[in-house]
Amino acid sequence: PAGRLRDILRRIDGRGYKAYKDCEGAYAFDDFTLIIDHAQGDPFAAPSRVRVRVAANVAGFPAGCFTTRTREVAFRDFLARGFAAAIDAAGQNRRGSGKSGQIAVARPGQEVLERSSVVVTAEHAVEVRFTVGLPARGRSVLGRQAEAIFFEDVPALVRASLLYAAVDAAALDRHLEVSEDADHLRAALHDRGLVAFVADGAVLPRASGVDDRPLKGGVPFASPPSLRVEIDLPNCGTVTGMGVPAGITLIVGGGFHGKSTLLRAIERGVYTHIPGDGREYVVADPTAVKIRAEDGRRVEQVDISPFIAGLPDGRDTRAFSTENASGSTSQAANIMEALESGTRLLLIDEDTAATNMMIRDRRMQELVADDQEPITPFIDRARALYRDLGVSTVLVIGGSGDYFDIADTVVCMQAYRPEDATARAQAIAARYASERFTSQKDGFGTFMRRVPEARSIDASKGRREAKVAADGVRGIRFGVHEVDLSAVAQVVDPAQTAAIAHGMLRAKRLMNGRSTLDEVVRAVAAEVEREGLDALTSHPVGGLATFRPFELAAALNRLRTFRAGQ
Ligand code: ADP
Ligand code: MG
Repeated sequence: PAGRLRDILRRIDGRGYKAYKDCEGAYAFDDFTLIIDHAQGDPFAAPSRVRVRVAANVAGFPAGCFTTRTREVAFRDFLARGFAAAIDAAGQNRRGSGKSGQIAVARPGQEVLERSSVVVTAEHAVEVRFTVGLPARGRSVLGRQAEAIFFEDVPALVRASLLYAAVDAAALDRHLEVSEDADHLRAALHDRGLVAFVADGAVLPRASGVDDRPLKGGVPFASPPSLRVEIDLPNCGTVTGMGVPAGITLIVGGGFHGKSTLLRAIERGVYTHIPGDGREYVVADPTAVKIRAEDGRRVEQVDISPFIAGLPDGRDTRAFSTENASGSTSQAANIMEALESGTRLLLIDEDTAATNMMIRDRRMQELVADDQEPITPFIDRARALYRDLGVSTVLVIGGSGDYFDIADTVVCMQAYRPEDATARAQAIAARYASERFTSQKDGFGTFMRRVPEARSIDASKGRREAKVAADGVRGIRFGVHEVDLSAVAQVVDPAQTAAIAHGMLRAKRLMNGRSTLDEVVRAVAAEVEREGLDALTSHPVGGLATFRPFELAAALNRLRTFRAGQ
């Protein structure tokens, strides 16, 4: 019973901080069970890991929260937000200085993701994982303050956010319905021959480069009639919007007219967004991968030969490695790695692409003969990619009309409004022949799938067998190594980064000298889908969120010690 925790806290009050270890265990409160999994060893260590579990009959959430995976994930995401908001509403903690006395939970952004911070048990009990900085004065236990945390603060948070009677039921419904609709929309793309959908009325621009909430006063999206499609959704009825067809789509238009903003919304469309985000009904093929140049990255044994071959030093580009990739080689490697992981949609923005990977015009072809140029630009590969491998491309390009020759669809952004410029672009292409030589060999060809080496993945640090940590969305500290994810655009939540870090360790254990990288990352993702995020860690922790196999592969590919064979 909870009384026992009170007794312990009173007994250890004023003693050395390590005495908090005595609190570890489970305690039955009136409305919930409190589980102190791990009490920190000193006031400056990582805060203590705590769980609260509320039984189904007490929490009282309706069955509709659990009926499908989509609904359950959205339900848990909603509760995670509510719990974080309740912590905020409780205001500045009054239980000591610094992190001491602080209750914290991972803070969700604009995406609805499966989160380990809230799980539901088979019996539909709701469990929240959070951390508590156990209060200290100097290095001694402040037992009374700890008592206030566990007997006043935590129960108040539970009452405010984990009971159906306390939550905004309409907001919860909406959260579930929007998620269900978005998943439905995403699943509907393929049969309609689409790779993305942007709903009329969607607000795509963000408040700022560091604030992912919608821009106030952003011009709502309005689809061009010729690209307009209607899709029936289970909850919100029929939505209309722009369907982006499979094939090669260009987004053109003047600078500042909203091209990159549209592409970025599509790239985030692999995830579901919360009600009010503006991108609730903006979705993309779930395998879409944003591609960019990323000079300086390491590349391990990647077959980049479809794009780069015949290097002056005679190196074999079918198994290309470098410690310091150039803009074009890094972009080629990023494309080939995405193909290796099974993408069906590449998203490329001129703003972050290597020019020599994208274009090579007639004049340059005259000056530098094709057999002197190792790079086959994307323009000469995109069609074969679609025809041979079924991989579509959406490309922002404001600077090269040569691409009209290979485009299936051309969307022109004008003052944030898209127009279907396909017919005009085709007429222009017919009138002004670009006279490029197509430096195209026949098919796209096959590419290698690499087999990773387990021993090249080592997160040990000092005496610790494995120590990994997320650095926001920008990277991972993996033992003594840093994995730079700043160019991996579709890692969108620090909780994903944390989960990917653990996923890398899980992947290592599945590497057996035969399985390909693709098989390994898929196996990890499947395990998480089947068993939940807890499959990634030896003990239950909050602060993890699901990721795609693509981003796990991206992290492994960027670990500088990573080794693989073909
Ligand atoms: P481009 O890639 O065409 O140069 P961007 O997409 O970078 O243009 O957009 C330029 C600016 O316009 C950005 O600050 C962006 O936030 C803003 N913007 C984009 N779309 C909209 C919109 N629908 N309503 C209002 N502002 C927008
Ligand atoms: Mg741009």
